[in-house]
Amino acid sequence: MKAASMAIETQTRTQTVLNPATGEVIASLPMADADVVAEMAREARLAQPGWRDLGFAGRARVFRRAQRWLLDNSDRFFDTIKAETGKTHEDAQIEIAAAAQAFGFWAKNAEGYLADERVPGGGPLLLGRKVKVRYEPLGLVGVIGPWNYPLVNTFCDAVPALMAGNAVLLKPSEVTPLTSLLVAEMMTACGLPESVLQVVVGHGEPVVDAVDFVMFTGSVATGRKVMQRAAASLTPVSLELGGKDPMIVLADANAERAANGAAYYGLLNAGQVCISVERVYVEAPIHDEFVDRLVKKVRALDVGKPAGPGSVEIGSMTTEAQLGIVERHVKDAVAKGARVLVGGHRSSTSGLFYEPTVLVDVDHTMDVMTEETFGPVLPVMKAADVDEAIELANDSQFGLQSSIWTGDSKRGEQLAERVQAGVCCVNDAMLNFMAFGAPMAGRKDSGIGGRHGANGIRKYCATQTVMVNRLPFRRDMHMFPYRASVSKLSLRVVKALYGHGRS
Ligand code: NAD
Repeated sequence: MKAASMAIETQTRTQTVLNPATGEVIASLPMADADVVAEMAREARLAQPGWRDLGFAGRARVFRRAQRWLLDNSDRFFDTIKAETGKTHEDAQIEIAAAAQAFGFWAKNAEGYLADERVPGGGPLLLGRKVKVRYEPLGLVGVIGPWNYPLVNTFCDAVPALMAGNAVLLKPSEVTPLTSLLVAEMMTACGLPESVLQVVVGHGEPVVDAVDFVMFTGSVATGRKVMQRAAASLTPVSLELGGKDPMIVLADANAERAANGAAYYGLLNAGQVCISVERVYVEAPIHDEFVDRLVKKVRALDVGKPAGPGSVEIGSMTTEAQLGIVERHVKDAVAKGARVLVGGHRSSTSGLFYEPTVLVDVDHTMDVMTEETFGPVLPVMKAADVDEAIELANDSQFGLQSSIWTGDSKRGEQLAERVQAGVCCVNDAMLNFMAFGAPMAGRKDSGIGGRHGANGIRKYCATQTVMVNRLPFRRDMHMFPYRASVSKLSLRVVKALYGHGRS
């Protein structure tokens, strides 16, 4: 891959990659400095027009080939993702499945989302004119990703950017660059022209400086820095940031499904998911039964080094720093009166393992209920009624996702409107991510912009409005010179059209 070879020729600093489940060093990569990133950007801009001119069908062919390559080479993806994140086989499989679906979705739908749009209306002044909006690629997009889903939350946000006809600088997390390098190998093998996609192993700042649009996924703190830096060049950004997703369990919920849902959607990927269940509010009548069921399920989970399918449910956490946050949140909660019903500490095995944990007697004075924990911890709080549960759910700086669990799905759908989050699932969580046609856009500190749906690809484009006068007379009535008779007539027309308040 071009990016890697260029980096090898010119770089001295290296990035070490660890397997967090074993502590082994699995790679040492040259890092690209600002000059190298600027050169990558220059080459990408030279390559982009050819890629754009290939058209939607030509670009879709590349992604269809990539779909097959990904699945034909899935073992390499499994091994790479598991090695650099420590996640389980099944958690890696979700990434591969989501990526395969995303390639097909954007290959099929990009053209429709970006087709020219005729704009109706425009009033009497526009009689005889055609107005249309067209979309054209911005040029060079920077996609900066986190470590928790190195395939899905990094490359999958590049897919619509590429399908729109842009070139991309892909900046994976320094913790998990290997999956992106494998992606680059895949795209080259599938016919992506040279330099259209380049992987930047190194810092994100030079990428922000070099591109026409920044698609950033990561923490709120870094998101703010990215936006500040991009402001200097008025570069637009889309920020997909953290969450503290509430799960509301109503008294009429199926306690067994709710407990299964909490255990799975709170603890998969060792809880390191931006849209995982991070806090649970349970209506008083069902609280004890829900907690009993949840504790039994969590106690039964196997924690350990990920091997093949079905080997363990909870893999390693990916970074020591994140594990430290989990330990801090649990300690803080216990110091303020929370009870640990299961887990509550690191695992005895070496590696970055933390036991899946259920906490009760929690409240909003505790960090575990207000800050993003991003680990295998489920704090469960009793709520007097549905109003209190929704009020607590909304008492947050975040607004990424949420869920309501109830036996009355119609009521659940109505209650969803009161939850301040970009997504609310009823009797489900998280799976909306696979509905690529529906926006996933955080509110409050959880983000700006959003991915998926029409905006998920249009944001990578500039719009151009084209107006064509199909009756170009020598002079239109409203042009100079002004005449009283014409002005009076125009006003009569405006009053006739709009004076009744209906048009
Ligand atoms: P992070 O903010 O530490 O890093 C994210 C990326 O930003 C990395 O590639 C990093 O190298 C880069 N970066 C760091 N400083 C930068 C700077 N000044 N300028 C440009 N780039 C910079 O986040 P993380 O720890 O890798 O990921 C975990 C966070 O990501 C969590 O908060 C999680 O909720 C969030 N996340 C959000 C979503 C979403 O879709 N909303 C999805 C996955 C993860």
